[in-house]
Amino acid sequence: MYPKLIIRLNEIRENAKKLVDLASRFNVEMVGVTKVVCGEPVVASAFIEAGIKKIGDSRLDNIERMKNAGINAHFQLIRSPMLSEVSRAASLIDSVLVSELSVMAALDRELEKSGRKIEVIYMIDLGELREGCWHEECMEELLQAARFKHAHLTGIGTNLGCFYGVLPTPDKLKKLVDIANTLKEEGAEISIISGGNTATIYLMEEGTLPEGINQFRVGEALILGTDVTGQREISFLSQNGVELQAEIIEVKKKPSRPASPRKHDAFGRDVEVEDLGTRIRAILALGEQDVMVAGLKPLEKGVRVLHGSSDHIVVDVTESAREWKPGDVMRFGLSYGALLRATTSPYVRKVFEDAGIIR
Ligand SMILES: *Cc1c(COP(=O)(O)O)cnc(C)c1O
Repeated sequence: MYPKLIIRLNEIRENAKKLVDLASRFNVEMVGVTKVVCGEPVVASAFIEAGIKKIGDSRLDNIERMKNAGINAHFQLIRSPMLSEVSRAASLIDSVLVSELSVMAALDRELEKSGRKIEVIYMIDLGELREGCWHEECMEELLQAARFKHAHLTGIGTNLGCFYGVLPTPDKLKKLVDIANTLKEEGAEISIISGGNTATIYLMEEGTLPEGINQFRVGEALILGTDVTGQREISFLSQNGVELQAEIIEVKKKPSRPASPRKHDAFGRDVEVEDLGTRIRAILALGEQDVMVAGLKPLEKGVRVLHGSSDHIVVDVTESAREWKPGDVMRFGLSYGALLRATTSPYVRKVFEDAGIIR
């Protein structure tokens, strides 16, 4: 049955081992982030087998899924809970990234009822302009956050790269360490400085990670072996952790220029088309409903992705040595966005080859 997403746990486990090893040399603990695989429990298990102790996810549904599957780990919620889900969060998680005092207060009230404690990592915005209090004026808010008992301020953190592609440079992360030091001088018990995600790994490779940063929350590098912000494959990791397979339903020779007049496609996009004369075009039973088409990386030589709509993707196979026909299966690597869409699509079969599991 196609489309099929192959997930190779052995590759992911090996990536995790290598990253845990690199991070340990910098006294950095790794939080293995499972959101790109929708909290898939067998992926969490692979992380844990590699020595990862904390599992991070942005959604309580995913964390609940892993707990119900028997995954025994520290669970970190890496997106602030909604006020409407605070009571659920209070019973499911062990630590949380927060950026509003009102959320922390609600969490604290909820935790007081149950007597549980949760570690709170308060987020600082160092220029990415997504979550966190602005680094130049965060001290008062942080001191307020340090007053709660049950939602206990244990650390500060930042997230760079994912939103506007702002690079986590040593000077930016040094600011985070400085803020933590000031907080400690004011009497707060700060033990965690959660400095980054996949985009921050290069600082460990270069050896320029500021001292004091002691936690990374990583998803992409573990599963894909890539760093989309740095636009690179991480050289010491495997890029074979996932593969998408789709079936061809049509192969025909056609001109490469569509007829005119032309306006926008089904997604409102103005598509640019190169005129390369007559080409051999194959259609895959795969579309935007299954995967982010722009994030497909053909694993077959001479194959180029042209364009996709909801359920059809057209690839140019003119340069391929193979004669493609309906029923043939084509293989693709995936970008972070493409993997996110594929794992989230109910139309894509998830196949864990080395565990013999199909979902
Ligand atoms: C998604 C996310 C991560 C993990 O990012 P990767 O690029 O997959 O390593 C870490 N922290 C936060 C806050 C996130 O939202």
